[in-house]
Amino acid sequence: MSVATAARPLDRVADFPAIPDGWAYLDTAATAQKPQAVIDAITRGYDTTYATVHRGVYQRSADMTRAYEAARRRVADFIGGQVDECVFVRGATEGINLVAQCWAGTQLKSGDRILLSALEHHSNIVPWQMVADRVGAAIDVVPLTADHRIDLDAMAAMLTPAHKLVALAHVSNVLGSVLDARRAADLAHSVGARLLLDGCQAVPRMRVDVGALDCDFYVFSGHKLYGPTGIGVLWGKADLLDTMPPYQGGGAMIDKVAFSGTTYAPPPARFEAGTPHIVGALGLHAAINYVEGIGLDAIHAHETALVGATREALGQLNSVRLFGPEDAAGIVSFEVEGVHPHDVGTILDEAKVAIRAGHHCAQPLMEILGVSATARASFGVYNGLADVEALVRGLERVRKIFG
Ligand code: PMP
Repeated sequence: MSVATAARPLDRVADFPAIPDGWAYLDTAATAQKPQAVIDAITRGYDTTYATVHRGVYQRSADMTRAYEAARRRVADFIGGQVDECVFVRGATEGINLVAQCWAGTQLKSGDRILLSALEHHSNIVPWQMVADRVGAAIDVVPLTADHRIDLDAMAAMLTPAHKLVALAHVSNVLGSVLDARRAADLAHSVGARLLLDGCQAVPRMRVDVGALDCDFYVFSGHKLYGPTGIGVLWGKADLLDTMPPYQGGGAMIDKVAFSGTTYAPPPARFEAGTPHIVGALGLHAAINYVEGIGLDAIHAHETALVGATREALGQLNSVRLFGPEDAAGIVSFEVEGVHPHDVGTILDEAKVAIRAGHHCAQPLMEILGVSATARASFGVYNGLADVEALVRGLERVRKIFG
């Protein structure tokens, strides 16, 4: 076996204490491993600098508030938004639910329509179904092209003035397909619909500028960006966030509370009820510094080379079927004919190769692909050609075992 395509090496594995020698971690699309810089930021947050935010009258709390708000500014810079447009949430799932409940739940009415695509993650399907049921809206589904991209020509033909919202993955977590997000925004806006982009798989592997994309909402999770779990970002255009009612009630989201009636803080505080994940925000700040220190363009080039090498090598193996487009970002889904992906995953694990096997929270997509599950290899800054070679060796062993 030879992996012919040259990947530009990043060689950052030494930054990641949880990746032992000889372990091919190919499950970054599920969650990224953490660099020491992020672990240090989290540790520092709790050991010598810890205090609550926004309420304390003492110096330590004021310092922590500054650090928490500095993390928000860093997020805003990272995606090209304004600081007050960045809401800290638990992750992409919570961000989408927030928009579904607070924006769609108040703006949509019976007869309105929501447009999703066939490759969406359950977290970009179920919240819309819940709100559609509640308000009497309907959901339409954009099909995929033959090479597994969201079919924007089909979308153009489907959109009507009844569509008030389009919600699409910027990068598919199963196929790695990259959306032409700007075109999707222009199409949505041409009928007066808003566009939400699920950026979970995009922010760790390509530069994102919400202004250039001209989307209306953008969500992502910190843990897929080498940051902590439990912290993520909802970005929304200021005029939209302004009109939205609170998501949850509690401390920190109010202007004035009285039993005769309560008024709410402006965004983003309006959407951050309760004591936030303070140290999570600090960890996310460190994660953004980490990826920007490497450079998103360099990360993208690195992962694109690894995807190319993987597709080329797997394409030469008998009975491996590849899904997704040739130019997928950081993710390769495949099937070994006649072998359940869980068996593939288990045998690869014995060979110290960690992949994901299953429906990847995209059951409608599995149906379209005609499979119950796929095996998925996904890459990060710590992967190199040795990991691709280990994957290919492991798959050759799968073939031997299953004849
Ligand atoms: N959307 C996509 C494309 C994802 O890959 C994921 C995570 N697998 C999510 C949404 C949900 O993210 P989280 O579970 O971190 O909220």
